[in-house]
Amino acid sequence: MNKLSTIAIMTVTVLAACSGPQRKSAGEGDWIVDRFDDIKVIRYEVPGFESLPLEEKLLVYYLGEAAKCGRDILYDQNCAINLPVRRTLETIYDNYRGDRSCREWKALEKYLKKVWFANGIHHHYSNDKFVPEFTAEYFDEVCRQVGDKAFGEDLLSYRGRVREAIFDPGLYATKLNSRDGDDLLLTSSSNYYSGISQAEAEKYYADMAAADAGNPEPASYGLNSQLVKDPATGLVYECVWKEGGMYSPAIERIVYWLAKAAEVAREPQKSTIEKLAAYYRTGNLRLFDEYNIAWVRDTVSNVDFVNGFIEDYGDPLGRKASWEANVNFMDREACRRTEIISENAQWFEDNSPVAPRYKKEKVKGVSAKVITVAMLGGDCYPATPIGINLPNADWIRKEYGSKSVTIDNITYAYDKAAQGNGFNEEFVLRAEDRERMEKYGKRADDLHTDLHECLGHGSGQLAPGTKGNELRNYSSTLEEARADLFGLYYIGDSKMVELGLVESFDTAKAQYAEYIMNGLMTQLARIEPGKNVEEAHMRNRKLIAEWCYEKGRGENVIEMVRQDGKTYVVVNDFERLRELFGELLREVQRIKSEGDYEAGRQLVENYAVKVDQELHREVLERYAALNIEPYGGFVNPEYEPVVRDGEIVDVKISYPADYVEQMRGYSRDYSFLPNRN
Ligand code: ZN
Repeated sequence: MNKLSTIAIMTVTVLAACSGPQRKSAGEGDWIVDRFDDIKVIRYEVPGFESLPLEEKLLVYYLGEAAKCGRDILYDQNCAINLPVRRTLETIYDNYRGDRSCREWKALEKYLKKVWFANGIHHHYSNDKFVPEFTAEYFDEVCRQVGDKAFGEDLLSYRGRVREAIFDPGLYATKLNSRDGDDLLLTSSSNYYSGISQAEAEKYYADMAAADAGNPEPASYGLNSQLVKDPATGLVYECVWKEGGMYSPAIERIVYWLAKAAEVAREPQKSTIEKLAAYYRTGNLRLFDEYNIAWVRDTVSNVDFVNGFIEDYGDPLGRKASWEANVNFMDREACRRTEIISENAQWFEDNSPVAPRYKKEKVKGVSAKVITVAMLGGDCYPATPIGINLPNADWIRKEYGSKSVTIDNITYAYDKAAQGNGFNEEFVLRAEDRERMEKYGKRADDLHTDLHECLGHGSGQLAPGTKGNELRNYSSTLEEARADLFGLYYIGDSKMVELGLVESFDTAKAQYAEYIMNGLMTQLARIEPGKNVEEAHMRNRKLIAEWCYEKGRGENVIEMVRQDGKTYVVVNDFERLRELFGELLREVQRIKSEGDYEAGRQLVENYAVKVDQELHREVLERYAALNIEPYGGFVNPEYEPVVRDGEIVDVKISYPADYVEQMRGYSRDYSFLPNRN
């Protein structure tokens, strides 16, 4: 069964999450540890760690180690040449004794920083391959100076392929191609499939699903494996990611640390961790389901975690999951906010604009938490989502509910790093909108995230006979749109005032103005000139904004204003806009419930993909003038056990502020996979 996406709502907070160097005020600069290309690296704090009891500190430490051990897996999943590329560049970085101040060396260093950030040679967001700003000849020259011995025989055998991967623009051009009509597997260079066409892969899994037809609890077929077609025999088979299978050396280390964690965990968490370890040992997806059920049922453990093959955004067919991890504990004060939302889940479901037959009669087990993240790993590092909603299997969500969390210390760090960056002054036309955004912006973003994660993804139900995987390559975009629309619609509901979550409709106004401006215009800052919108969350925001713009045109609900040669997006009628959100929510839910692929395809292709080149150029220019990097990511804190008489008596936390050192350290201490997996 295919998953309907979930993690990673990145609101405009992320877009505005950077500040120019010239505007640093006292203290502000502390949050930003590195800047390169379109990236800003921020540190985050873990308030409350010191006052955790020792057994919870140990749990954070052990699960944190497990979170670092799968880093190589993600590199290999993203592209088969990634590990040799990273290791070649790291060997150069550690051993080159020549001029380290010249332009070409700086360009090589920047390229390596980008590879670290993206866990590979493709941009983490656009999926396009990086263009090196140093030449192949320079690369050859530094390699020669470093000498063959430093690389070692095995890595040396990859030199030609590494060189080609970096410098041949036609090779591995995009990690994830989602262009309608292409063979999405043969044109994507991620490593989830090997030598197999889209039609063959789809048939393979359709046959598997057919063999299991009628099972109300289908396993997530294909989630934890690479699908391979043997070129010689034509045989199609799965290489399963498990102990003794593909990625075994890294998985063994993860299991080792999970066992340590299980030793200090209490029930029910202890058996939950043991179930996860058993799944890693066998690769048995039934055990993964069992683990997920145990995990989602455990709402009492203070320390919690994600560790495994979870999200399918990286697979063009939305089936295979990238490896990711995080470790967290509850932020009890902030939890009150999501508890209120959660307690009223049924009211929100009953009163939504969705057709009654597609509403859940009983909304089950929506657990809502605000968490403090203590460690990020795999596909959550360095770029991380700010909300999580898991598990992904639809039948588990229906029977057992899901866990939704928003990550407050991460959004706090983004917010700190963004203060005073000049973004709103440049792009928001009306002073009243700017004031509302300043006053209510963070709260509005938080609430929207809560609604999106706690209620949005968990709302609605499928029509009888609909499986949930009919929307295929459009499923992620439409699922994010569904959850976003749920949040947008309800943030403006008088129920929010009644529940004491907002003071007035002004919070919604702040959110609406920001959302529509971002979806219609400012998020284009993340797209390279000439490119269309590819990423699911960006497509979702564009879909919503463009659709509402068009449908509200007659009433001038949203206006594109030209002033002093600049374009501004202005919302003229917030109440009417909210109604439009409701109308679109109803339609997107219908599409999901009925599995109406054609209607979903039309929505996405008509509203979410194509970029106005003129407007795009303008946004890029204005954005560049602000010196704001559009993407943010994080360095992790470090945890060190304090040992006395052979026993761990405490765990100390520290906050390193050196991105390069952290990456080199991880590559040195947490790299377990061979060059060829
Ligand atoms: Zn989402």
